[in-house]
Amino acid sequence: MKIMVAVKRVVDYAVKIRVKPDKTGVETTNVKMSMNPFCEIALEEALRIRESGLAKEVVAVSVGPAQCTDTLRTALAMGADRAVHVDSGAAHVQPLSVAKILRALVQAEQPGLLILGKQAIDDDCNQTGQMVAGLLQWPQGTFASKVVLDKEKQKATVEREVDGGIETICLELPAVITTDLRLNQPRYATLPNIMKAKSKVIKKVTPEELNVELRPDIEIIQVTEPPKRKAGVILSSVDELIDKLKNEARVL
Ligand code: AMP
Repeated sequence: MKIMVAVKRVVDYAVKIRVKPDKTGVETTNVKMSMNPFCEIALEEALRIRESGLAKEVVAVSVGPAQCTDTLRTALAMGADRAVHVDSGAAHVQPLSVAKILRALVQAEQPGLLILGKQAIDDDCNQTGQMVAGLLQWPQGTFASKVVLDKEKQKATVEREVDGGIETICLELPAVITTDLRLNQPRYATLPNIMKAKSKVIKKVTPEELNVELRPDIEIIQVTEPPKRKAGVILSSVDELIDKLKNEARVL
């Protein structure tokens, strides 16, 4: 079985986000970019499944500008066998377009599993996995915190953390899985593997070659910073705190 993993290049989680002065989005010039943390978890899960002998190949896919090849090199250094870069140039690609691109790649590559992050930390959409499952008419296990494959029965058992506890579902393969934070702890790429990844070939395709039109269906009207937090006050006694909670905050 082949596993396809979608990895997105996003602003690094440790960077303090700055909104552009014209409010059209967040600043990405001269900002450290990395693989979306939930995509690292998706890739780690695919690698573990391959290492357990249940899959033969892991293919990493990224949609975006030329710099996505850096993200794909990281994926190759972590252990992916192959990488595909869908070059969208400078266009802002929205989740439905990414889902259509992934559908086209899935139809060409025929993986048994497509694993994505549950959400990208830049747009927080949490849409792509669900949309591609819908387009492919494949079952989906979203927000997975545990995945167990049964190769004989061609099924995946997925645990999902829901409000009241843990929901366990069973999916027929092929299926789409999106990863939650607690699924695993992604590995670091070792130096020898980073060196080896430099010589691996990254296949490049365009959305047009996949017959996908990058038509935005959402208009971003503006992006603004959250309101500044007011400074706190230091109180001199518990009585003063209780008084403020009762008479100012009115929560007691
Ligand atoms: P989103 O729906 O934007 O929150 O993204 C959810 C997941 O979809 C991400 O964690 C990725 O696995 C995948 N994804 C979204 N956009 C891209 C992209 N441009 N390239 C590759 N994967 C993507």
